[in-house]
Amino acid sequence: MFDYHVHTSFSADSKMPMKVACETAIKNGVKEIAFTEHMDYFYPNCDLTFEFDYQEYASQVELMRSEFSKNLTILKAVEMGLHPSTFERSNHFISENHFDFVIGSAHIVDDLDLHNGDYFEGKSLERSLEIYFKTVNQYVKEYENFDVLGHLTLIKRYLHFVKSDWKTIKWENYFDIVEDTFKVLVQTNRGIEVNMSGYRYRIDCSLPNLPFVKLYREAGGEIITVGTDAHTKHFVGNQIDEGYELLKAAGFKYVTTYRERKPSFMAI
Ligand SMILES: [Zn+2]
Ligand SMILES: [Zn+2]
Repeated sequence: MFDYHVHTSFSADSKMPMKVACETAIKNGVKEIAFTEHMDYFYPNCDLTFEFDYQEYASQVELMRSEFSKNLTILKAVEMGLHPSTFERSNHFISENHFDFVIGSAHIVDDLDLHNGDYFEGKSLERSLEIYFKTVNQYVKEYENFDVLGHLTLIKRYLHFVKSDWKTIKWENYFDIVEDTFKVLVQTNRGIEVNMSGYRYRIDCSLPNLPFVKLYREAGGEIITVGTDAHTKHFVGNQIDEGYELLKAAGFKYVTTYRERKPSFMAI
């Protein structure tokens, strides 16, 4: 089992020591863990700073590797927050440092935060969804330096701000634009992740869920990772198995792992 999306105290919104994450991963049967710390150079109206010191991070990973090497493979990774004003800086950070795996995530859309509800103000729900998917499409086209697109449909976690339920939305209305996004990812040897955080946000689905994962497969997608997006020890390794079942239901016979930014395909 591979948990390819975990945050520790190097991320501004997590207090989990890396050692606790490693111990929990081993206890829960995780063989590989990617510490995908937040790096968002543009994050308006927020008191937290989503940046970390690479040298400190890397030396902590080395320490954990020496302690847990028998039971756990630990990847140096980053969850890079995508925004056009910081593409150059992001590219520089990734290129200057050494990572096994890079997630590219849209947390800020239309210059507004999805997470605090600002994004939805003054827009209809349909318009909010359309702009969300178009913006992700634009980010994927304009910025290439990541391996998998993080938690597509993240917007589902925040629909309570507009008193909406994702189950009532016609997601097929956005499949044209999403299909185009997937094709661009495929053409550039990138993939998507299936992010299991939706379950702890009480929306009972992965991000993205099965119809989107099927669409990705139909678009020629092969690279796909599964991660919990755990920020505390309670979620490390949680529901990765369900993620693999979803991959199988979409026709995948493998999940992707990484070393030095190079993908491998492991049977599931
Ligand atoms: Zn994220
Ligand atoms: Zn994350």
